[in-house]
Amino acid sequence: MSGTLTSPQLTAADRCDRCGAGARVRATLPAGGELLFCGHHAKEHTDRLREQGAIISSEADI
Ligand SMILES: [Zn+2]
Repeated sequence: MSGTLTSPQLTAADRCDRCGAGARVRATLPAGGELLFCGHHAKEHTDRLREQGAIISSEADI
């Protein structure tokens, strides 16, 4: 799963928008915004975000 052209890799500086833990998942919103989630919050939120048309990309196993 490497070499994607669309999203830069998440780094240790990227933090979950909900709890501040290290981010593992990036959600790109249809409106153009971006949300970052840790593994825990990704499980809670990504299904709903996908339904809204967001693009979910993960950098690690969840
Ligand atoms: Zn979190």
